[in-house]
Amino acid sequence: MTDDPILIVEDNPQNRKLVRTLLHLEGYETREAGDAAAALKILEDTRPALILMDIQLPGMDGVELTRLLRRQKTTRDIPIVALTAYAMNGDHERLLAGGCSGYISKPIDSATLPSLIKAHLDPPMLTV
Ligand code: MN
Repeated sequence: MTDDPILIVEDNPQNRKLVRTLLHLEGYETREAGDAAAALKILEDTRPALILMDIQLPGMDGVELTRLLRRQKTTRDIPIVALTAYAMNGDHERLLAGGCSGYISKPIDSATLPSLIKAHLDPPMLTV
């Protein structure tokens, strides 16, 4: 377990609240941003253990923001897990190609979210 917070980037207040509640129940601290600009602001002085990234955001979307974070030295190693309602395989490939470590499909399954988070917080395994 880490003391670093998990950053939730999600514009939908209900989804944000659900994810926040689930993470707090598991003992994680959270920070929250409703768009890319707010996320970048938080990342100026916070290094989260993980970022949960909604893909559909107003303004810069989650894929663009992920690409940006992968280019910045201070953020490029932070695991990013996409929250996505997209169902098409091509979209998932696009997310992984953009630098996401994985994705969680919406609607969010409250029974499996904690173990998915845990898996992404563990030291990363290299997979081909
Ligand atoms: Mn959204």
